[in-house]
Amino acid sequence: MSKVKVGINGYGTIGKRVASAVSKQGDMEVAGVTKTRPTFEARAAVERGFGLYVPEGSLKAFGDAGIPVRGTIKELYGASDIIVDCTPGDVGEAYKAEYEAAGKKAVFQGGEAHSLTGISFNSTANYSESWGAQFSRVVSCNTTGLLRTLAPIDRAVKIKGVYATLIRRGADPGNSKGGPINGLEPSVKLPTHHGPDVKSVMPWLNINTMAVKASTTIMHLHTVAAELERESKTSEILDVMRASPRVMLVDSGSGVKGTPEVMELAKDLGRDRSDMYEVAVWEDGVRVVGNMLYYYQAVHQEADVVPENIDCIRSMCKLEEDAGASVSKTNKALGIKK
Ligand code: NAD
Repeated sequence: MSKVKVGINGYGTIGKRVASAVSKQGDMEVAGVTKTRPTFEARAAVERGFGLYVPEGSLKAFGDAGIPVRGTIKELYGASDIIVDCTPGDVGEAYKAEYEAAGKKAVFQGGEAHSLTGISFNSTANYSESWGAQFSRVVSCNTTGLLRTLAPIDRAVKIKGVYATLIRRGADPGNSKGGPINGLEPSVKLPTHHGPDVKSVMPWLNINTMAVKASTTIMHLHTVAAELERESKTSEILDVMRASPRVMLVDSGSGVKGTPEVMELAKDLGRDRSDMYEVAVWEDGVRVVGNMLYYYQAVHQEADVVPENIDCIRSMCKLEEDAGASVSKTNKALGIKK
């Protein structure tokens, strides 16, 4: 069977990683990537061997900069079976009509509204809901992290309610414009949009969230309190987490005191771009008291949605019916243990 051709529209934080991850799979290949301006990133994409597609109005600018271009963004649609839209939040919406007119499938990201696609995706929670779909949306990094742990816990021990606080990175490391630089900034529109985003995949879950922006670039940290339908034990929840895909238990006793050590671990594991694809849960920070569960988890915002994009492509293009089999293939290609 020939490989599925994946076009990546928007070659930024997420697009670069999706392109790299697609190029490592056996059943799909990169048809091309897009850039709007002739930046160092555009030049590097060409040097990595990715065909570059640009807006028609930018062809001259790329020519003047001496960056070879394969065609226009619209021409990328013709060269692709599916587009992964990694443009900034709310930009993807404008592209949907173009993908539709070209008769192409498209995966959108968490910066778009659930209503754009009517289906939101997470490999652990609802792989099969995107089966054969023309459009789907991989939920945001925070939502992906929450679903990775909450979906398996809810399956094992039903959850009555979740109260989570998201301590969010101020900006991505490659972005010098974010903030706060020295402070903590509460999200005052409460409860925050993260709870409804989790519900776009698990509509039955009673979840409420708050969020605080922090002066860090490397990871988000979640504090989660969940009321369970019945009494449980710490050991029972840890067993569920140990069995859950893309959940990595870390231990403060072994030196993983916070997010810097989680990022150091990703480097030590030899990950592409030092990415931590898994959600990291502190094993010694998981605690059940009666029917209340408490835990902390860290999310590498640049990375955790990347394997989900690969699985979403497989579900939409009907490449692999079984969620577990797709997760295994993606994990093997990206060096994720489980
Ligand atoms: P980014 O700004 O790093 O990258 C976006 C890319 O799209 C840039 O290369 C930009 O030049 C390009 N672009 C801008 N306008 C364009 C247009 N009209 N046509 C084509 N390309 C255009 O953004 P990102 O962080 O990679 O976010 C992409 C999506 O992924 C958003 O929906 C975001 O919410 C979501 N997401 C981001 C993160 C994160 O932490 N960075 C995590 C998960 C999901």
